[in-house]
Amino acid sequence: MTAPTTVDEVSAGLPSGLLIDGRWERVDETFPVVDPATEKPIARVADASVAHGLRALDSIVDAAPGWAATTFRERAELLRRAFDALTARREEFARLIATEMGKPLEEARGEVDYGAEFLRWYAEEVSRPEGDYRRSPDGGSRILVSRRPIGPCLLITPWNFPLAMATRKVAAALAAGCTAILKPAPQTPLTSLRFAQLLLDAGLPAGVLNVVTTMDAPAVCGALLADGRIRKVSFTGSTAVGRLLIAQCGPQVVRPSMELGGNAPFIVDEDADLDRAVEGAMIAKMRNMGQACTAANRFLVHRRVADEFGRRLAERMRDLTVGHGLDPLSQVGPMIDGAACDKLAGLVRDAVDHGARLLTGGSPLPGPGTFFEPTVLTDVSPGSRMFADEIFGPVAGVTCFDDLDEAVAVANDTEYGLVAYLYSGNTEKALRTAERLDVGMVALNRALVSNAAAPFGGIKQSGLGREGGREGINDYLDLQYVAIDA
Ligand code: NAD
Repeated sequence: MTAPTTVDEVSAGLPSGLLIDGRWERVDETFPVVDPATEKPIARVADASVAHGLRALDSIVDAAPGWAATTFRERAELLRRAFDALTARREEFARLIATEMGKPLEEARGEVDYGAEFLRWYAEEVSRPEGDYRRSPDGGSRILVSRRPIGPCLLITPWNFPLAMATRKVAAALAAGCTAILKPAPQTPLTSLRFAQLLLDAGLPAGVLNVVTTMDAPAVCGALLADGRIRKVSFTGSTAVGRLLIAQCGPQVVRPSMELGGNAPFIVDEDADLDRAVEGAMIAKMRNMGQACTAANRFLVHRRVADEFGRRLAERMRDLTVGHGLDPLSQVGPMIDGAACDKLAGLVRDAVDHGARLLTGGSPLPGPGTFFEPTVLTDVSPGSRMFADEIFGPVAGVTCFDDLDEAVAVANDTEYGLVAYLYSGNTEKALRTAERLDVGMVALNRALVSNAAAPFGGIKQSGLGREGGREGINDYLDLQYVAIDA
């Protein structure tokens, strides 16, 4: 597999160093960023120490009062300029995402569009601040309720959507009047660095957003949370790390927002439109090569249609073209690293050992590049590891059910509660079933839930809080009530 790009092309114009107080600071220690499709380094970025992190914190604390005092209109206009700039530079950002993260270029363009929407959404939302004025029931006082920025924030993002996970947090924090440190994933920091420069170019004042790249997130983020000046952490990543961060929020009573892992059921009832369900399955499973918290993880299909569904899904998966994200023919890019491929191979082996039948795929592809074959298994036993763990790859496991009650029970039998997909020919039955699913989001006869205008988030161990929608900004605001003796 050839890489239709060069190191120079990808890194041209990339800021290097840490962004602290409006300046890019060079750091002696660096780490490589690798193109997972070639396994070759494409750039080196700064490896921040705890001391760097604390200087970044001093800077956002100093900038906080000034930024909180800006008008809603000023913040809205800055975010709108950033939206326009990102939209104008769509192709450049898409190529960078495809190279450092691996997703096919067309999907990377989709991520730029989706990521940019958060800038536009919050530009619009911030212009309509909420607040209210009430009378106490006994008529003895007036109650004035307003909102204020929570204060300096720590924003931690994963590698699978390097732009959209950053804009989803940064736009909400900035709109609310908060300053922030962005800590991107070490696998994909380049997109965040370029996005931060775009914000500076759009007029963001020094110190309002600092970017700290590091290979030692536990030490740097641990020190920031222990310091006491960070008032909020917003994290997107694995449930294991989320649990750790929630515990670290305790001593200083930092407010946590957590977008964690998922184990999405994809339920196909006997009366579903099968063409639509197979089409939806391809999207819900294969977006980002299955490396998404929202990825369909367990296909639960009514016994009457399960064989046909499995056969048709396998045909579609077999036809996919695997290749470098920048290759225009590629529909499936690499896994983020070799460990991800090893994990997938282990999940497939375990499912087969538990009685599953392999319809297509099942193995890593020869390198260079960490590619895994699009895979479909059927007759997967609900006790298999792939039904308990996040698969996080292009592997679909199908099992069948006899009635919807059974499907709902299996769907809810997980510690996760992010999203569920439901394909049904009966809207009333589908709505009643959706209400019984223990998840934060349900997709009915469609395969995408992500939308800047909607409250994205999970329940149970999939998270705390919501991002996007009218609700997203609230996580960055505190309420203040003034009692008036009148
Ligand atoms: P991860 O938890 O390993 O890492 C996420 C981020 O946390 C990275 O920036 C990493 O450097 C940092 N980190 C790791 N250990 C830390 C620590 N001790 N303290 C502070 N920061 C730490 O997750 P990942 O592999 O990058 O991403 C994949 C995971 O993210 C999956 O579980 C996926 O479901 C989840 N995810 C969730 C959503 C959502 O919105 N719910 C969206 C995308 C990804």
